[in-house]
Amino acid sequence: MLNVLKNRFEQGCKTSRYPKEDIQLLPRYRGRPEINIDTPMDMVSTCADACPQEAIDPEAKTIDMGRCVFCGTCERISKGQFVTFTQDFATAVAEKDHLITNGEIPDLAENSRRHFKKLFGRSLQLRQVSAAGCNACEADLNVLATPFFDLARFGINFVASPRHADGIVVTGPISRNMKTALLKTYEATPEPKVVIAVGSCSLSGGPFRDSPEIAQGLDTLLPVDLFIPGCPSHPMTNLHALLSFFK
Ligand code: SF4
Ligand code: SF4
Repeated sequence: MLNVLKNRFEQGCKTSRYPKEDIQLLPRYRGRPEINIDTPMDMVSTCADACPQEAIDPEAKTIDMGRCVFCGTCERISKGQFVTFTQDFATAVAEKDHLITNGEIPDLAENSRRHFKKLFGRSLQLRQVSAAGCNACEADLNVLATPFFDLARFGINFVASPRHADGIVVTGPISRNMKTALLKTYEATPEPKVVIAVGSCSLSGGPFRDSPEIAQGLDTLLPVDLFIPGCPSHPMTNLHALLSFFK
């Protein structure tokens, strides 16, 4: 017992001071894309042709973050001339159209719904639904419960039953087999409720886009309130989104 107490004392507090203090991610992290609109069209077209997700619109010189899997191919082949990925993890949006970006992303806190803050600002209970995800989005949500992120200190928890939840958080491309379970979970969640889509799969189908076996985005089935891009979405993106939208 004394050793346990000694270890605890020596380790100190491991919880991040975010959002009171900024947090620095690893240099290899790819967050909000910055786009150079003066890039020659042939370079933009080369990037668009190479994009595995058809996420680049060469005419508009924009990236659809709902489709993008942040693979970095466009940055690499343009040598940063067209796209560079920043360390900015604040990429979640409240409107699907806002996922299509020329580098600018509207401030989420300003676009959140005021009645959600009033209803859920002090306590938000969420039920996570993995609708055929690969487990990476799910893992980066689970990690929010660890001491470093300590999501519960903000009054936000993941719960076991939709009956106890204020909303659902959906990951994965929503396979045909998971569609009924997802819709039943949504129906079992009492009103008023929120719907959060996490990861490229639930935003657009992700790498499985156009497959007849999946839904082409959660918003084709349910009214989505919050869209969090990534493949997977980084825990800091998830945390920033939840705090900006509900606090
Ligand atoms: S980083 Fe996104 S936009 Fe760029 S090539 Fe990969 S999927 Fe396409
Ligand atoms: S968005 Fe990417 S990480 Fe998330 S479930 Fe789909 S394939 Fe996996």
